Amino acid sequence: MSLYRDEGVVLRTQKLGEADRIVTILTRRTGRVRAVAKGVRRTSSRFGARLEPFTHVDLQLHAGRSLDVVTQAETLHPYGEALVSDYPRYTSGMAMLETAEKLTSGEKEPALRQFLLLVGGLRTLADGSHDPRLVLDAYFLRSLAVAGYAPSLDKCARCGAEGVRSFAIVTGGMVCGTCRTPGAASPAPPTVALMVALLRGDWDAADASETRHRTECSGLVAAYLQWHLEHGIRSLQHVERV
Ligand SMILES: [Zn+2]
Repeated sequence: MSLYRDEGVVLRTQKLGEADRIVTILTRRTGRVRAVAKGVRRTSSRFGARLEPFTHVDLQLHAGRSLDVVTQAETLHPYGEALVSDYPRYTSGMAMLETAEKLTSGEKEPALRQFLLLVGGLRTLADGSHDPRLVLDAYFLRSLAVAGYAPSLDKCARCGAEGVRSFAIVTGGMVCGTCRTPGAASPAPPTVALMVALLRGDWDAADASETRHRTECSGLVAAYLQWHLEHGIRSLQHVERV
């Protein structure tokens, strides 16, 4: 058994036995870690509420053969406090935590950029400076990009042609008239511009968007994310062959 230190965001907790929990944490250096927090469900727990979802914690862990064990936890940022009292922010935050777990495929595979995106996303949600839906869509688009699934938005995802008007999830983003497949969406140009702004982190442009374009953007981004989480890259290659 060896001790190590890291910092991370608590993604999820599961009960273990009478008083313990298994805590899933996305850490800065170690990647996604599952660790046992002993006695955490007792009111006298020395961890208090520090190992609850959303909390950014500084940790000391014992590396175990199957599961690691949390030996110390200090709160760096209690993002959950700002989120639990606001339903739109809370649900956006929960979706971020779930996505962070799914887009970091293996345990203990370093995922620094995913960690930084998650911390940045939770911080922005908690400070209330932007529409939670925009914060969530920006997080989805950027974490997909880090995972290698950035949608093509300015050129055809299949042939590279310009002048794209349709959004085809399976093809990988915007497509031209020639490559358009049945069922492709035809988003309004400002909706596509909003997706570009969110992917780039251009908040001035994103904040100036209209509600109907935000709604259309959210629908497309959610469908695109869902497709990639369910199919992964192997299925994408299969579609390309067909
Ligand atoms: Zn094309």
